[in-house]
Amino acid sequence: MTATPYSASGAMPKAGRGAADTGPRIARLETFATPLVGFVRLTTEDGAQGWGQVSTYNADITAQVFHRQVAPWALGRGIDALEAVVAEIPEREHKYPGTYLMRALAGLDTAAWDWRGRRAGRPVAELLGGTAGDIRAYASSMRRDIAPEDEAARMLQLRDRHGFDAFKLRVGAQCGNDIDEWPGRTEAIVPALRRALGPDAALLADANSGFSPPRAIEVGRMLEAEGFEHFEEPCRYWRLEETAEVTRALGIDVAGGEQDWDLGTWERMVAMRAVDIVQPDILYLGGITRTLQVARMAAGAGLPCTPHAANLSMVTLFTMHLMRALPLAGRYLELSIEGPDYYPWQDDLFVESPYRITDGRVRVTDAPGWGVEIAPEWLSKSTYLKSEADA
Ligand SMILES: [Mg+2]
Repeated sequence: MTATPYSASGAMPKAGRGAADTGPRIARLETFATPLVGFVRLTTEDGAQGWGQVSTYNADITAQVFHRQVAPWALGRGIDALEAVVAEIPEREHKYPGTYLMRALAGLDTAAWDWRGRRAGRPVAELLGGTAGDIRAYASSMRRDIAPEDEAARMLQLRDRHGFDAFKLRVGAQCGNDIDEWPGRTEAIVPALRRALGPDAALLADANSGFSPPRAIEVGRMLEAEGFEHFEEPCRYWRLEETAEVTRALGIDVAGGEQDWDLGTWERMVAMRAVDIVQPDILYLGGITRTLQVARMAAGAGLPCTPHAANLSMVTLFTMHLMRALPLAGRYLELSIEGPDYYPWQDDLFVESPYRITDGRVRVTDAPGWGVEIAPEWLSKSTYLKSEADA
């Protein structure tokens, strides 16, 4: 891979160095990707390294975007300029707005935070102003192809085995236009989970853009009647006004934002109070630096942040560190409960899993950086690409 930035005007500007460019220069950026997962290794001129991740799914395409549209603007920059570089890249690449650029940018950002943590000998959570320690998790179901009684049975098993006291189930259908996964599933699963898990369990429901506002309000009332405390993505997420209408109508906390990568959209979402709880996804949004901006924006409006983290790649670990540091963190971490049948790719990623659950809680250790090591066997089987700064 070359590291030459292209621009739509035909000029080929070089990444500039400004007052923020202190610290060792970024000398090499490498990706290790499959179509599902992609890791990033950042190396500075002194040989120090950090590991991060681009977002899951189409991670091989994202790695191409990384080397073409992210790495050229970062190579040669001082590591202390991360925040400036993260702000500059969307401007330099403003002809290419969208999720791929942000999924790729997240790889740079999260690798740089690991670099900083390793250099300081401290967990990223501490660098962000928080501490190592444990964090309450909710058991997050990703499935709709599961009958209410089967979902209740596996949630009970998870409660008894791991001590979870909070659970999220799926209602409606993804972008379902009011048509349920099968007729009556939503009406059946909501009371079934409450009956099975008892009055004290914290229950959450996710509609994945499934409903029109009238149907969302109807389902929301059903959730309220069963004492649910979080109603996620009730309406088509790109129509903020629809979600805002539902939020105004209901008492239950409406949550959303996982797909939104655009900071302007976030500003509008917070200003109109479209949701009660913001849910940025660190890897869809472009990394820790940009997620902190959203979380602070939300906290300024009194809205807590319960980030989206839907699988057990590094994204949930990043979220754990962030939540240990957020000014107004939500009540729990999203922790996927799906196993190899749903996520056959996530079990061999790390030398040691950072997701051990005790009493319904996971733990941010005081190991430097993200505190995790990618499995060498996994890396050896991935597709490798490299961008390097000019000598
Ligand atoms: Mg969701």
